[in-house]
Amino acid sequence: MSDPIFAPHPPYVPAPDRFEKMPLRACGSSGVKLPAIALGLWHNFGDDKPFQTQRNIIRRAIDLGVSHIDLANNYGPPYGAAEENFGRLMDKDLRPYRNELVLSSKAGWDMWPGPHGFGGSRKYLLTSLEESLQRMRTDYVDIFYHHRPDPDTPLEETMLALHQAVISGKALYAGVSSYSPELTRKAAAIMRDLGTPLLIHQPSYSLLNRWVEEGEDSLLKTAHEEGMGVIGFSPLAQGMLTNKYLDGVPAESRAGAGKMDREFLREETLSHIRALAKIAEERGQSLAQMAISWVLRDQGDASLTTALIGASSVAQLEDSLAAAQNLDFTAQELAAIDEHAVESGINLWQRATASKN
Ligand code: NAP
Repeated sequence: MSDPIFAPHPPYVPAPDRFEKMPLRACGSSGVKLPAIALGLWHNFGDDKPFQTQRNIIRRAIDLGVSHIDLANNYGPPYGAAEENFGRLMDKDLRPYRNELVLSSKAGWDMWPGPHGFGGSRKYLLTSLEESLQRMRTDYVDIFYHHRPDPDTPLEETMLALHQAVISGKALYAGVSSYSPELTRKAAAIMRDLGTPLLIHQPSYSLLNRWVEEGEDSLLKTAHEEGMGVIGFSPLAQGMLTNKYLDGVPAESRAGAGKMDREFLREETLSHIRALAKIAEERGQSLAQMAISWVLRDQGDASLTTALIGASSVAQLEDSLAAAQNLDFTAQELAAIDEHAVESGINLWQRATASKN
């Protein structure tokens, strides 16, 4: 008889009803269908977090219909660790299900020293993609993004690199992140001419950071007109749109661990968050759920495709994913929310949208 302590883990078998658990939404005018809520591995999947916790979160997410998982070359710590840990999971649990998962990675922010470990050069993007695939233990990513605009590289060079990634079969689709509406239009035109239309834009978006809605030619509108989907990241403003910071900074939180700027937690912002928590309670949702539902609300043609969340535990994940069960808002609720859904100076990525391209 085998000793249970040394018995191998039973193989992972995803929940058979997983595709009924989460609404799917068309990604722009493409044939890709993304879950309304996707999981990102930015902060909670580095070597400073237990592998088994990471494994539990990802398995549970897939069981609950999260068929899209978002990575980038430098997610960790250290840089590359999230992709490496995900690669371990690919070998242990996920390989039989690779074809049903939409996996993304990115390059654009800093990854290694020197001029080609950062930015938008062809050299950086294509060498980084190669390394990401090795770490993730997969032959291709579904989406490869340019992670941020690079004013020092011609846009044509960056787009040609994304096109090449797709032509080589190492990525199935291409996307951009944190590009301004104007730069998005230029990028989309170049990619259309090359024959690889941009699939998707990944901007920050939350109740406290509404830049994607701003202006006649807003990013949400631009993406729709260009046939692109939009996946909004940090819909919880990195955890601020939950109850966790209302009475101080818990040690085990992202801000407590020094991974988020405590300056974001200004008293004025906290008073808006308290008011939003009250509205959420009246709706019968947690604040986290309402924050996610709100970014996914019906905005006509300019609606978001997907909310891209993070989670540091299975309990958080389950709470957040339940948002998909209530995406409707009354006009009164939206008006009450608007009073407190105000610009709060938390858009770290704003400066990345300024570009001379
Ligand atoms: P987020 O969903 O705004 O914040 C996630 C954090 O909120 C968690 O780590 C946790 O904080 C807290 N949290 C989550 N669910 C909760 C719940 N139900 N109740 C209470 N607290 C909860 O998203 P994010 O992690 O900042 O970003 C999500 C993903 O977007 C990233 O993983 C990445 O894939 C992508 N992203 C992309 C870019 C880009 O430049 N393209 C930039 C940033 C992020 P604690 O850790 O404190 O528990």
